Order: sequence, then structure tokens, then C-alpha cells
Amino acid sequence: LSEGARHDCCGSGRAFDIAVIGAGSAGFSAAIAAAGQGARVALIGHGTIGGTCVNVGCVPSRTLIRAAEAIHGAGAAGRFAGIEAGARLADWPALRRQKDALVTGLRQAKYADLLAEYEAVDYREGRARLTAAGIAVDGAEIATPRVVIATGSAPAAAPIPGIESVDWLDSTAALALDTLPRSMLVLGAGYVGAELAQAFARLGVEVTLVCRRRLLSEAEPEIGAALTRCFGDEGIRVVGGAGYRRVAADGAGVTLEVERDCAVEELRAERLLLATGRRPNSAGMGLEEQAVELVAGGGIAVDDRMRTSRPGIYAAGDVTGRDMFVYMAAHGGKIAALNALNGDNRRYDDSAIPGIIFTDPQVAMVGLGEAAARAGGRAVRMSLVPLDQVPRALAARDTRGLVKLVADARTDRLLGAHILAPEGADSIQTAVLAIKHGMTTQELGETIFPYLTTAEALKLAALGCGKDVRKLSCCAG
Ligand SMILES: Cc1cc2nc3c(=O)[nH]c(=O)nc-3n(C[C@H](O)[C@H](O)[C@H](O)COP(=O)(O)OP(=O)(O)OC[C@H]3O[C@@H](n4cnc5c(N)ncnc54)[C@H](O)[C@@H]3O)c2cc1C
Repeated sequence: LSEGARHDCCGSGRAFDIAVIGAGSAGFSAAIAAAGQGARVALIGHGTIGGTCVNVGCVPSRTLIRAAEAIHGAGAAGRFAGIEAGARLADWPALRRQKDALVTGLRQAKYADLLAEYEAVDYREGRARLTAAGIAVDGAEIATPRVVIATGSAPAAAPIPGIESVDWLDSTAALALDTLPRSMLVLGAGYVGAELAQAFARLGVEVTLVCRRRLLSEAEPEIGAALTRCFGDEGIRVVGGAGYRRVAADGAGVTLEVERDCAVEELRAERLLLATGRRPNSAGMGLEEQAVELVAGGGIAVDDRMRTSRPGIYAAGDVTGRDMFVYMAAHGGKIAALNALNGDNRRYDDSAIPGIIFTDPQVAMVGLGEAAARAGGRAVRMSLVPLDQVPRALAARDTRGLVKLVADARTDRLLGAHILAPEGADSIQTAVLAIKHGMTTQELGETIFPYLTTAEALKLAALGCGKDVRKLSCCAG
């Protein structure tokens, strides 16, 4: 702890060097990093300890997605000659209970039980807001010179006429349904909408996915188009380019009226799931009064040291409105706490952030897409390898997907890597390291990769920047 960092808290009998608001991933990371510096930490949590990822995000959705994948995988086993198999969901409440038990166990082990391991961290429950002297928790003042705000985000509903009269689901409610509906309209085709649409379809729900633009509009267009075909093959209808006109509910379900290609269409289903984005939890925290600036969309503005516009106040995680991934929340929380205590010498590293979408095939990306790379007039080179050129996919008889690399045409530096492949998520880290360390596609192509792995597709794509991969022998020779 730097000289003068400790601050005696007036009147409370306990001195805190730093207060962390929000006991999710960013908040725990900040609190643990601060305790590691010898600081006395007040950690304030409102709602279920652990926040989004463990309770209503990554963990429950990932396990249900895996269960749905197991059902699909059994049905797809017939692609191998001589195999007959099949699986079906027989007991949704049992699957849900198993998911809930996983959540409870991980929440206990990775959050609640950890508190006892860090004596310097004083955990308090309550809703915190900033004050001139520090923070207030349900009216009680905690004076502290430094604060890290890590209050996360919440689902944001699209403003569709009639939505207030519909009992719609958000991702949290959908993951906790008592009974599965026969049919579901999923609105929004970002990662949450895409993942849950496919999972519910595989669990036996008739799913229509509706979006204003296209499936995964943030991903490369080739990936969105290929995944749309995969969804279609599984019976998921994707309705893109839709303007939402109005929505209404009756005893039998929900009707959504959309406009596409100058025609009006009515879409019906038993339940409506809104997956139309998330909004930072920045309201009602006294930010305006304390001159903490926000960006458009309500996120707290931070610089590369996680400093807000007000000295001594830092922010990290979803509440900043950017990089809404749990690992970036944890990274930002740690940087914020270390900088608050030690003089702002750490930089938030966003040089090569991997992004994963747990559909099947999985989408994994890092760095620039083609359009972003071209913006500003840069000359770029592309390589696109369909999975039917990748030995692993051929052996698995599952060639759904592609790999696309984006490189600087002048320097040959790798700028972006985009994978659509079954289990493609585990391969992206190779490209993350390549981009972070400034590798060229030639260097990536000359690196040894193990044969019959999905990661090998990256080598093939790197070689594809200068050669036709169809003319290569095995092991990309
Ligand atoms: C369905 C779904 C699936 C996801 N899957 C993935 C995934 O696979 N991989 C991945 O990287 N990310 C995933 N995410 C995103 C990830 O969960 C979030 O980026 C991450 O949890 C954000 O962490 P955080 O600490 O910023 O916020 P949170 O974890 O939300 O924590 C914030 C905490 O602060 C509390 N709080 C709010 N206001 C106050 C206040 N005034 N006082 C005190 N406490 C307050 C909140 O109740 C909450 O407990 C997923 C998200 C969803 C919704």
C-alpha cells in the first residue's frame, strides 16, 4: 500500500482503505486484489452474492446448453455408418434442479466461502450509493478515500408498443422456467438470444428467432450466414431484418407483429423471450451528484486505468458498458483496485480480447473483422477456410463452419481471427497470443500444430493467405 493510502473512517470504529460496490466477478476481483496489497476493504453486495455469471449468466446457461447439445449429439450420431442413437428430454424439472445445484455449489465455493479466506475484506449487504465522503449503504455512511464501482448490468427490454401488457421472459427467467413452453419467440440475435434459442430448440421447444438485422450482427457476415443455415437445419426459424410493430398477449400466447421487406407478418408463440441487450446498473447511485460521467447507454466512463471522471472513484465490469465478458470484469476489477491503491500504474489490457458464443458450432473471435480492418483505408488480406478442408472436421463427419483470418496486406501482421466450428472456442487462444505478440500470418503458418485438431484450421487459414489450401498435403505440408 502506498504511503498515505490508509484512511481512518470517522466514527464507524473501522477504517477502510477502499470500498468496492457490487459483489460479482469484478467486485470480488477488486476486493481480493486490494486485500493482497494489505488494504482494509469494505465489499458491499446487493442481491445474490456472486452476481450475474455464477447465478444467472455463464454457469446456468452453459450447463443447459451442454445438456441440449448432448440431446442433439445423440440424434446426430447417425452420420457415422452403422450407428443408431437418439436422446430426448424426459424430465425438465430434474435438469433444472441439477443446474441449480451446480450454481449453488459454485456460488458457495467461489464467492461466499472465499470471504472467510480474506480477513481484510468486510462484506456487507445493502444497496450502496456514492457520497461526498465515500459511500452510503442503506443510509449508513462508510467514509473511504477510494471506491471501485462494480455494479454490473441487467437485461434491457426493447421498447415495443404493447410490451407492458405481455408477461415476457428475460434470460434469467427463461433459465428458471418451471415448465417448458411448446413454442417460444426469441427477440434479439446477439449471443444470449442465439445461445438460448438453440438450447431451447434442442430441448424440444419450437423456436422462432427474430431480430432487426441478422443473426450475430457483430460477427463476420460469413459466420452469421453459416450459423443461420445450421439453425435452419435444426428447425429454428430465423426472421431477420424485422421491424417490431407491436406485441400483444391473449390466453394462448403472444403475437408479435413485424414488418419486413415492406410486408407485415404476425409471429405467434406460447412465450416471448427478450434478449435485446443489457443495460449498465448505474442509475440511483448518486453518480451525477458526485460528477461521475456516463457514456451513451448509461455505462460509467473510464480511462485505460479504470479511473472515472472523479478522482478516487474507479469502475470495472459490465457497469462500464464495454467488454461485457466475465474475464474482462475480473481483469478490470483487479486493475481498478491496484491503481486506486498504488498510483495508477496499471493499464487495462484490451489489445486482444477473445469473444466466444456458445452456439453449436461455436463462434470464437479476436481482433478486427474485415470491415473494421478496412475502415481507415488500410489494405487487408483475407483467408477463408471452410471446415470441409480441415482433417479433424472430416474425421468427425461434421464440417459445419469456417475459419477466417484478417491480416494487414503490407506487414502481413495478423489483425483478426474468426472461427465457426464445433468446439472452436478452445482454438481461439492460439490466435489471441498470435495477435497480442504481433505475429504475421507467415509465422503462424510456420508454427507446428498437432494434426487432427480444430486449432490446425488456424494454420491452414494462415497458409491460405498465400496458397490454395486445397493443394496442401496432410499436416498442411
Ligand atoms: C445469460 C448470460 C450468459 C453469459 N455467459 C457468459 C459467458 O459464457 N462468458 C462470459 O465471459 N460472460 C458471460 N456473460 C456475461 C457475464 O456474466 C458478465 O459480463 C459478468 O458477470 C459481469 O460481472 P460484473 O462483476 O461486472 O457484474 P455482476 O456479476 O452483475 O455483479 C454486479 C453485482 O452488483 C450488485 N449491485 C448492483 N447495484 C448495487 C448497489 N447499488 N450496491 C451494491 N451492489 C449492487 C448486483 O446485484 C450484482 O450482484 C453472460 C451473461 C448472461 C446474462
